This record gives sequence, C-alpha cells and structure tokens, in this order.
Amino acid sequence: MPELPEVETVRRGLAPFLEGARIEAVALNRADLRFAFPERFAERLLGQTILRAGRRAKYLLFALSGGETWLAHLGMTGSFRFAGGTPAEPSRYRPPAAPGKHDHLVVDLHHPTLGSERLVYADPRRFGFVDLFQDEAESPFLRDLGPEPLGNGFDGPYLAARLRTRKAPIKAALLDQKLVAGLGNIYVCEALHRAHIAPTLPSARLVTPAGRASARLEDLVAAVRAVLLDALAAGGSTISDFRRADGGAGYFQHAFAVYDREGQPCPTPACRGTIARIVQSGRSTFFCPVCQR
Ligand SMILES: [Zn+2]
Repeated sequence: MPELPEVETVRRGLAPFLEGARIEAVALNRADLRFAFPERFAERLLGQTILRAGRRAKYLLFALSGGETWLAHLGMTGSFRFAGGTPAEPSRYRPPAAPGKHDHLVVDLHHPTLGSERLVYADPRRFGFVDLFQDEAESPFLRDLGPEPLGNGFDGPYLAARLRTRKAPIKAALLDQKLVAGLGNIYVCEALHRAHIAPTLPSARLVTPAGRASARLEDLVAAVRAVLLDALAAGGSTISDFRRADGGAGYFQHAFAVYDREGQPCPTPACRGTIARIVQSGRSTFFCPVCQR
C-alpha cells in the first residue's frame, strides 16, 4: 500500500516531464477503477496543459491550464509509467514497459522541450481512482485532510491542541487523516518506535497539564518527519534500481526497524527487546515492548 513517501517519489519522477506537457489524446480502457471515471473525463483532459504535478496526502494532483485539477490515487497496486518514445531523461520513475490488460488509462503527452511521451496508468486490483475538480475545498477527498506531516502546520503546539482531550491510542490518532494527512500503518509504526512511544499510549498523555506539547510529543513530531524523509531518500535510489526489475508496482522495500519484523530483535542500541505484533483497530501494529513506553 503506497503511503506518502511512495506517492511523493512517484510525483518527483513524473513532474519533470508532466509539467508543461500538453494532453493530446486520452484513452480509457474500461468504465471504472474503484469508482467510475468522472463524467467526460477524457474530453475534459484533452488539449489541457499540465501546469504542475503536486501532491496532497496520498493523492497526486495535476493542475490543468483550464483551471481543473486531475486527482489520482494509486490504491494498493496502481502505478504510472511512461511507455512511448523516450525523451531525454524525463523521469527517474521509469519501470519497464509492460503493456497489458491492466493498462486502464493511457494519456499521450507532448512536452515543448522533451518531446512526446505516453503515460500509462495500470492497476491490477483497481483500488485506485481518478477525479477532476475545480476547487480543492469541494473535493470530498481533500477538504477534511489535516496538515501535511512534512509541512509547517504539523508541529508540537498543533498536536498538543488536538490531542489534549483525546483518549484514543496515539497510533490511532496518527492514522486519522483529519489530524495529519498521508500517514499509514507502516510509517506510524516506524515513527512511534523511533520516538520510543508505545502505540497504545493514550494520546492525551503526550500533552502537559497546561496543554503544551511534552518533550515526548516533540520527539514524535521529529520522528515522523525523519522516518518520512528517510523513506523519500531511499525511494529515489531504489526507484532507479527498479528499472532493472521486472513488472509490479513501482514501490520499494525499506529497511524497516519494526514493521513486519515480529519476533526479531529490536534495533534500538542497547535494547534487548523483541519486536511484538498486536492488532489495533483491525490492523497489525509492530513495536518493541521494552523501549517503547
Ligand atoms: Zn526496543
């Protein structure tokens, strides 16, 4: 399941070619993905120039010259790839072309300096989807999202204000997209481990009686940012390697400290703990019961 670093890695790979490119042809090879394609989707894209390839939480946002924004969510198995003639180094994100029955959306683009290229969206399980909207405030996917974890709005005072009366476990709070946007199970587990905070800790315990961020909450903010930045750094290099790999989605496996490492020794220096797995809200949580309190 792609989380923020994976989606941002895809965005960084696509942006150099997409930004400034004109949409010359659009083919939909089925009527829907997770949801139906928006009305007249192909027609509304045709002739538009992509001004900016942005991201909000786990959504790719392609701003179009006509004023609409094309939103794309990769679901679990969605991926973009370039399949046509190759302009000079348009993208680090270039998995091997493997045209197939899962190529649901094909967009022909022309970039004024890089030439022509074909962008293909494939999604074997079809949990991904696209949307088109005029105003971010009217998008049901975007309007309720909390701040970006790598942005200025996510800090100790913000979290303290939102968590001071919240009894829910801190892990559940961090997965709440209205509190902070784009975090998923993997990076929440990793950040809590890095900050040495138990995933079951009631959120309000990280706020002082005066309503300020505790030192532990500030540590958590720093850990969330550090985990995401590490994953982004890994994404760049691994995506390049992916050119030589075969098929599949364009993601990568990080060296996780706790995620999916049940029964293995805790990597915290001098900790003798063993990574445990519990289930919270129906999802696996991996953590060290010794150094996470
Ligand atoms: Zn430990």
